[in-house]
Amino acid sequence: MENGRKNWVNGANGQEHETPSNITIKGIIGLLVANIDADEKRRVISLGMGDPSAYSCFHTTPVAEEAVVHTLQSQKFNGYAPTVGLPQTRLAIANYLSRNLPYKLSPDDVYVTSGCTQAIDVSLSILSRPGANILLPRPGFPIYELCAAFRQLEVRNFNLLPEKSWEVDIDAVEALADHNTVAMVIINPGNPCGNVYSYQHLKKIAEIAKKLKILVIADEVYGHLAFGDKPFVPMGVFGTVVPVLTLGSLSKRWIVPGWRLGWFVTTDPTGNFKHPKMVERIKKIFDICGGPATFIQAAVPNIFEQTEDVFFKKTINILKQTSDICSDLIKDIPCITCPHKPEGSMAVMVKLNLSLLKDISDDIDFCFKLAKEESVIILPGLAVGLKNWLRITFAVEPSSLEEAFGRIKCFYQRHSHQQKEH
Ligand SMILES: *Cc1c(COP(=O)(O)O)cnc(C)c1O
Repeated sequence: MENGRKNWVNGANGQEHETPSNITIKGIIGLLVANIDADEKRRVISLGMGDPSAYSCFHTTPVAEEAVVHTLQSQKFNGYAPTVGLPQTRLAIANYLSRNLPYKLSPDDVYVTSGCTQAIDVSLSILSRPGANILLPRPGFPIYELCAAFRQLEVRNFNLLPEKSWEVDIDAVEALADHNTVAMVIINPGNPCGNVYSYQHLKKIAEIAKKLKILVIADEVYGHLAFGDKPFVPMGVFGTVVPVLTLGSLSKRWIVPGWRLGWFVTTDPTGNFKHPKMVERIKKIFDICGGPATFIQAAVPNIFEQTEDVFFKKTINILKQTSDICSDLIKDIPCITCPHKPEGSMAVMVKLNLSLLKDISDDIDFCFKLAKEESVIILPGLAVGLKNWLRITFAVEPSSLEEAFGRIKCFYQRHSHQQKEH
């Protein structure tokens, strides 16, 4: 893994770049885009980032826009908000999450953050102490590794199992944990794998965490974006078994990642996080960081109350449709296979079969050459911890998705062993 990262930015153009020990998805995509030939006339299609807001079929609901316009024009929200968030926003988030829980959250459980990203940083910050370690999924979401490194929190990775619909390798979690382990992270619905965990599997996760005396950080930024057979079950359902920190945001379900409105929530009815020292520590972090713009926070109660089900259904339908297109078109390209059809979120992991390609050395080489030759951006698996896999984002307009896969197929044909010499 470490070695893999070392030669990772050493792209297909053969140039050595400065090699960071960790890199963000945005950083990698920037490098891939920079590698596209200047005289390439075709439109760049990105299946790299989970930000579909540019596509008209993934436009947010007017209800959300109107709510923000209203709070902005009211002139009541031009000042600072309390650092932990506006009271009405905390209450609205508590009520929103409580709809799917067997108990009721209080506004005091909720801290308003600058997107889910800040909620991740806050979680890892409050848990870090000398010698502590945290268990992260592989494949995973790079921000966790970045935050952990910054807070000097040791990372131990457990695998997600592709043959078991990307479930957590529970035995591995048990083997990795020791008395310095503070938490394990799950991302459900999953990024990068597009999986959704069943009630039974979440229960097993809660039980192992309880046994190991660690807490569960549940990244539910894709909460409710499930379109397969399994419904989305929030980890907080098991909050009475094990303390859970629930992280989320408006970014994905409302398709407004630029609004930077997220939450850090102690879904913990037994009150582990109510300890005055813990509350003090959390509040201190928020005193330092502050949260999203006050008028965006103020719009949240209306956004939750007024967003109609048809908006959510429309998003789910289009994600179902684009994920189906994606799964079908993957079958058309022999060098990539998908072990598990996506059931949620906006991305899927596919395995790269390098033996079918004559001049591609690894996933990074594949992505750099694909960008250069076809103006299609895909994330190398190494960016999420799996070498020689690829992460494909399917939250893209259907026509662009089809065009992108057409180009990937041409790329495959050009680089396959079977290609006839001209
Ligand atoms: C997008 C994403 C985030 C970050 O969410 P923001 O609200 O944009 O900060 C966190 N975790 C996962 C798994 C994500 O996909």
